[in-house]
Amino acid sequence: MDTPFRTHTCGQIDSTLLNKELQLAGWIHRIRNHGGVCFIQLRDRYSSVQLVIDDSSPPTARHLINQLHPEYCISIKGILRRRPDSMINSELRNGMFEFHVHDLRVLSPAPTLPITIEPNHAQASEDIRLHHRYLDLRSGDMQQALLVRHLVSQAIRHYLNARHFVEIETPTLIRSTPEGARDFLVPSRLQQGMFYALPQSPQLYKQILMVSGMDRYFQLAHCYRDEDARGDRQPEHTQLDIEMSFVTQDEIFSLVEGMIAEIFEQLNTDEHIRYNSFDKHLPQFSLAQPTFRRMSYDYAMRTYGTDKPDLRIPYLIQDFSHHAVASGIPFFADIATDTTKMIACIRIPNGADLSRKHIDALAHHAQEQGAETFAWTKIKRGVFEGGIASKLQLTPSAIGQEYSLEDEDLMLFVKGVRHDYGVHKICGAIRTTAYHLVNSKHDRTHQTTNPKQLFEFVWITDFPLFEKTTDTFSSNMNKADTPYAQAWTPAHHMFTQPQEQHLEFLMQHEHPVPDYDYSQLRGMLYDLVCNGVELASGSIRIHSTELQRKVFDIVGVTHEEQESRFGFLLRALTYGAPPHGGIAPGIDRFIALLLNKDSIRDVIAFPKNSIGASPLDESPGAVTQSQLDELGITITNTSKS
Ligand code: ASP
Repeated sequence: MDTPFRTHTCGQIDSTLLNKELQLAGWIHRIRNHGGVCFIQLRDRYSSVQLVIDDSSPPTARHLINQLHPEYCISIKGILRRRPDSMINSELRNGMFEFHVHDLRVLSPAPTLPITIEPNHAQASEDIRLHHRYLDLRSGDMQQALLVRHLVSQAIRHYLNARHFVEIETPTLIRSTPEGARDFLVPSRLQQGMFYALPQSPQLYKQILMVSGMDRYFQLAHCYRDEDARGDRQPEHTQLDIEMSFVTQDEIFSLVEGMIAEIFEQLNTDEHIRYNSFDKHLPQFSLAQPTFRRMSYDYAMRTYGTDKPDLRIPYLIQDFSHHAVASGIPFFADIATDTTKMIACIRIPNGADLSRKHIDALAHHAQEQGAETFAWTKIKRGVFEGGIASKLQLTPSAIGQEYSLEDEDLMLFVKGVRHDYGVHKICGAIRTTAYHLVNSKHDRTHQTTNPKQLFEFVWITDFPLFEKTTDTFSSNMNKADTPYAQAWTPAHHMFTQPQEQHLEFLMQHEHPVPDYDYSQLRGMLYDLVCNGVELASGSIRIHSTELQRKVFDIVGVTHEEQESRFGFLLRALTYGAPPHGGIAPGIDRFIALLLNKDSIRDVIAFPKNSIGASPLDESPGAVTQSQLDELGITITNTSKS
């Protein structure tokens, strides 16, 4: 690296360069002027080094000192020296060196900063950070996120390329690919009154690539979903879109498992991303197990109360209904006659030391979630103690084996509705809260291993194909115009292959069959979940036109609509379509999980804020009247008056 600005970067500095003349370029991170001697911390993308300007420096450099400020961009020439032993800072990569300046050039000044540049995010509000994103991206956290993102993309490309995958770009101006959200629309100037949609995913294109014989496809694809700004959603996100022909679910699982192992390996060994301006180290990443656990949707719901279980939390939900009568607890007794209800219990190992205040908080939480009854007891020295213990006619030894009971356990009981995993969902929420309560108590006493860097992946399989809805499948269409008023919507998307056992029923009937409960149908459909976060969804696809039409019928896509919106897919499937399937891991969420970030905005270079706007370039913005005229568009009302 030898340019008019620099001969080396801060990341290249080492003892072989001692006493040599070098030229560096970067930003003034900090400046301390002690009269005779001025110390500047110079920062570039790779690391930082301390510059020294003192009496021995030429007057041209000394005269500039008073004009320098943080974040000035400078280029300096000087000699690299070893710091006196007492001045060595072992925390910094270049902490044993200092750079004696003999020539200093200001390449570009900077005004007073609206936010400070820190290793961790400044305290500034998010909108200020996004408004000055160029400064925010200079922080160590953001640099690390961008570098990790880069490495993950490179590792993915390398891994898939080695396995004969072809990276193919699909268009962003398209007809529409429904994934259950609203489309972003782009007006056509050449065909006034017509609109393109931005893809919610490349789903239909990747399927068509399979019909084209491309066999193994991937793309780091931008996907656009015009959803209400809620929580951590972004109108555009990146997903690794994968599709394969002649494939089984198992092959897709092992492909993804191998890819994640390779990404972790790269993250743990790659030298380039281990450092940045702030010498911020990446932690080591470890997989709980190389072959991920698998569980059906039904098992996950019954055992964890969610289809996104965090397996780091070891508490399981179990059925207590069959003990309701024998337990002697009056408010459990109606379970015997009312089969719509059930009692679920959760054993919290070492939960007995939770305070009354904590247990009340759990009770409150359960009630908020819709529990009919919440009860608890503890096990102390072999007997139930506290809560419902005085009325409980069962002993720990009678039910100990069934629930693996031990001393110091806390047992929680929740009564609620059985339907649609009602009581399980309540328990799922309490499970997480209880874990945090127990852990925060225990963390203070026994320093447990940091669970943050342990990644517990799990495949959730056998999802329902359809869900009941009060809405139509096509929330992306103008609802006033839609003819659909049916009650079924795809749980994933409409292109998922139903499981074998349903094919006969599907093919032999006109759909929808009135009053038929389509929620019992299962799809060849899977999610990848890690530490309670859904990272990917995928499925084996329908590759027959006839079956595809049946599914369209169930979700209420009219025959007319089937032709106009999906005719190209239906036609393609008639021409020798191979069996195929795929998956699409969300890249933003994956990086956020790796870096333990709560918001995906912290791992995207230029994200939108919580109302879908970009404070940096102020998009979305108004357009001129002539642009509207060209498109044949008249604005009848605006959100800003
Ligand atoms: N197209 C799906 C999605 O974006 C993923 C897939 O089925 O491959 O969620």
